[in-house]
Amino acid sequence: MARLLTWYDAHGRELPFRGTKDPYRVWVSEIMLQQTRTSTVAAYYERFMARFPDVHSLADAREEEVLKLWEGLGYYSRARMLHKTARRVARDGFPETQEALLALPGIGPYTAAGIASIAFGQPTPAIDGNLTRVIARLYDVRDNVRVPSVARRLKEHAANLMPPDRPGDMNQALMDLGATVCVPGTPACERCPLTGQCAGFAAGEPELLPLLPDKKPPRPVEVAVAVVTCGDRVLVVRRHQALLNNLYVFVLSEGLSDAAHAAARLAHLGIDAQYKEELGSARHVFTHRVWNMQLHHFVAVAPVSVTGGEWVTADELDALPLPTAMKVARAHAMRLLTGREPDATFPHKPREGLR
Ligand code: SF4
Repeated sequence: MARLLTWYDAHGRELPFRGTKDPYRVWVSEIMLQQTRTSTVAAYYERFMARFPDVHSLADAREEEVLKLWEGLGYYSRARMLHKTARRVARDGFPETQEALLALPGIGPYTAAGIASIAFGQPTPAIDGNLTRVIARLYDVRDNVRVPSVARRLKEHAANLMPPDRPGDMNQALMDLGATVCVPGTPACERCPLTGQCAGFAAGEPELLPLLPDKKPPRPVEVAVAVVTCGDRVLVVRRHQALLNNLYVFVLSEGLSDAAHAAARLAHLGIDAQYKEELGSARHVFTHRVWNMQLHHFVAVAPVSVTGGEWVTADELDALPLPTAMKVARAHAMRLLTGREPDATFPHKPREGLR
């Protein structure tokens, strides 16, 4: 597999979190990369590191600031867990083995293997979707890779590839090969440094690998989103449900998306409000469900107090950690409050102190 490392030295991706052996930096990047595209993570990582350059600065931060820097990356439980675990690591130090890393909250086998190999030079393969695909093709594994015995076989193959001197680089080389050459769908075998060693290529049709069980599509859910203004303020409510827990959203009612449903929700909250207009629609895909949202503007008679709710100005709204699912609704709210079309930068314009 020396060929793969030679290829990696010449063609590996240049990413802001590469070239470091600092376990904190490796850890943050691995957590950000879960469920999120590498190109998206790069900017978030740099901003996060500028504000929290080491585990102590993260441990000392307020959760709201951590969430604000995470805004737009989704899967916010990752940020909360990262923050919580940072406090433990700041106190006890970083464990150096995969087993000990696995005992930390929020660190699973993939992240533990990544940190152990990159930061501590241990020969632990970091198996994710990319590695699964590459290894299944390299060894022509034509069984369902979700079956535990097949997954174990893939892991053994991957472990045998780890060189004692550069295991972290080998993991990253396999990741990069999977991301740029041995891609899902049709792999670019003509550009691959491993063509001569690849059993899947030799057998033909490596694009059929890996074999996966059928996935259920996410369940569609209708959601009415009420953007309720009162003077120069809009109502946001802190959510206390598993999905988007603790994040601010507008007044949501799931099940139906029409104005009457939104109005019933407002009445239930004790808000006397007049319906103004439909603002449009938005869609957000989570792992297991899709929100099909209709957005409605209401004007409240008075800014009555609501449990978990806050009536915020445009500036305050801009500073709050809102999930990406609320991006379109927030843009409408900003326009309603300021009379201006919102800044197109995503997810929010950089603010002093956060850079
Ligand atoms: Fe993937 Fe093709 Fe390379 Fe095999 S030869 S590892 S299938 S890109």
